[in-house]
Amino acid sequence: MAYLSTDKVEHHHHDVVIVGAGGAGMRCALQLAEAGYRVAVVSKVLPTRSHTVAAQGGMNAALGNVTSDHWHWHMYDTVKGSDYLGDQDAIEYMCRAAPQLVKELEHQGVPFSRLENGKIYQRAFGGQSREFGDGGQALRTCAAADRTGHAILHTMYQQNIKAGTHFYEEFFALNLIMEDEACHGVMAWDIGKGEYHLFQAKAVILATGGAGRIFKTTTNAHICTGDGGALCLDAGLPIEDMEFFQFHPTGIADVGPLISEAVRGEGGYLLNSEGERFMERYAPTAKDLASRDVVSRAIALEIREGRGCGPKKDHALLKVDHLGEELILKKLPNIHELALRFAGVDCTKEPIPVQPTAHYTMGGIPTNRFTEVVKQSETASEEEKVAGLFAIGEAACTSVHGANRLGGNSLLEIVVFGRACGHQVMKWLKEHRYHKTINPDAWQAGVNRVERWLDQDNQADVKVSQVREQMQNLMQSHFSVYRTEDVMQEGVAAIEALHHDIHKASIEDKNRIFNTDLVEALELENLMSLARATAASAAARQESRGAHARDDYPERDDETWMKHTLASIKGDKVELDYKPVRTIPMTVESFPPKKRVY
Ligand SMILES: Cc1cc2nc3c(=O)[nH]c(=O)nc-3n(C[C@H](O)[C@H](O)[C@H](O)COP(=O)(O)OP(=O)(O)OC[C@H]3O[C@@H](n4cnc5c(N)ncnc54)[C@H](O)[C@@H]3O)c2cc1C
Repeated sequence: MAYLSTDKVEHHHHDVVIVGAGGAGMRCALQLAEAGYRVAVVSKVLPTRSHTVAAQGGMNAALGNVTSDHWHWHMYDTVKGSDYLGDQDAIEYMCRAAPQLVKELEHQGVPFSRLENGKIYQRAFGGQSREFGDGGQALRTCAAADRTGHAILHTMYQQNIKAGTHFYEEFFALNLIMEDEACHGVMAWDIGKGEYHLFQAKAVILATGGAGRIFKTTTNAHICTGDGGALCLDAGLPIEDMEFFQFHPTGIADVGPLISEAVRGEGGYLLNSEGERFMERYAPTAKDLASRDVVSRAIALEIREGRGCGPKKDHALLKVDHLGEELILKKLPNIHELALRFAGVDCTKEPIPVQPTAHYTMGGIPTNRFTEVVKQSETASEEEKVAGLFAIGEAACTSVHGANRLGGNSLLEIVVFGRACGHQVMKWLKEHRYHKTINPDAWQAGVNRVERWLDQDNQADVKVSQVREQMQNLMQSHFSVYRTEDVMQEGVAAIEALHHDIHKASIEDKNRIFNTDLVEALELENLMSLARATAASAAARQESRGAHARDDYPERDDETWMKHTLASIKGDKVELDYKPVRTIPMTVESFPPKKRVY
């Protein structure tokens, strides 16, 4: 392997380096840059192409603009939605902060849709109620039409430019610089120029988004390859609760793009091949607005029992036309366009074919509610912090979503914990004022990752794209909405065998400049680590909870399984450990587990 001398690596010194320019990374960067710190944001794509831009339906906050509401009711819904696996201190923190942060976004320039009286428009979303309060459905999701993420991301970018954040665009983070069990920076590859860059920092924040691309059919962009989690696994750190992968009930059948829950929030509903509004049977009160795990399981069951639609009987129909063309074009313009483009359906006239599609990574890098990355084992009474390392957004498992995320809680999470991380890092920086002198070849592991692909001859006829496809098919067929022991064990064995193929695979393009083959190969390495952790974590959990639904263990088992999974890669093996759920909130009483009914 080529050894790179210091002069071949460009060095940068910042107070903080943030990997990821989505909503989470940029909200955090803004906090720190405005406070005068020298902040680097490293992103493998142009900031405004981060997946946050695709978020449609909106962001939850108990503003009470349409129905009465309270943050405590929001907290109750989130704990219930999480199937009691969410950490209640973090959930309280998030729901309490929500109204203030929505108002802050408004003042920063996010063009929220408006009610007649000028207040921010709020729509109904799944799993939202006033069950803990005065009863009925809560309208809690603040929206900018059906392009809320786009509005937030662009506003954050503009604010960051104003605040003087340093952006390193189209730079791919390769590995964490760890010494003495602390994080001191990140090694990155400049995709455009084909050069190495070492970012040294007093604090490193991972905000790399989700990992939907471990599955074949997903609403996630191609860039959602879970890189931050993989960097942690590489550094010997665990990742948490990867078995909980949200399948959104309404991805466009066969292709995956998302039809937002906002469609059902505005009054759309699901039909089976018999024209029946089947959600009435599964969730008599909330119907089509039950939480996502419940609706996805219902669609899967309808299909399994032969009531699926279309020639292959493999999807449900989402009826929208009764809402009228005017409402659809005003409040759901993006959905109208997506249905036309990807399903060839004009939803003002016909229903949209939909099926459950991999959507959101509830698991991720374990953090406490202060966004500090933590390690803990089942036997240890205390969490141990990883000095200098923080994680936020979809890459993190804080865990506000537990076993199932409520729609609209993720855009909320990224701004709430983006800001919380800013606060926490400022405290850290007061005590850690100088860069550490790091080992002169600390970057070598990152260099090796890239050079291995560029050096390799093309003798082997295994292609990166083939391995990726096999992995995605395996995950889709063995770890989908419903899971069983035999199928999962077969999946674990197959994925463990497949990961060796990465070492046999090669890329055709050996150029250094803008080599997308190379980027895809690096992403495949990351995806594979996460797929292995996901498969092992899922096969071990013998209960049904939230997004982890098992035919052979149909009930939730709080006695044995109300705990978080931790997966790490030791040597060449995936190892599992567990840690308790934080059931004690900050100031209010805990919500004890009870049966979930919608
Ligand atoms: C189609 C769709 C619709 C959604 N709608 C909603 C909604 O209406 N409401 C809601 O609450 N949630 C919604 N979500 C979920 C929500 O949008 C995401 O969870 C959230 O935006 C994630 O933000 P993030 O900042 O954590 O990551 P992202 O926005 O995904 O950003 C990740 C960043 O990390 C960078 N990155 C990753 N790996 C590397 C690397 N190796 N090197 C350098 N940079 C790297 C990327 O370049 C990018 O800048 C939706 C998700 C999807 C997919």
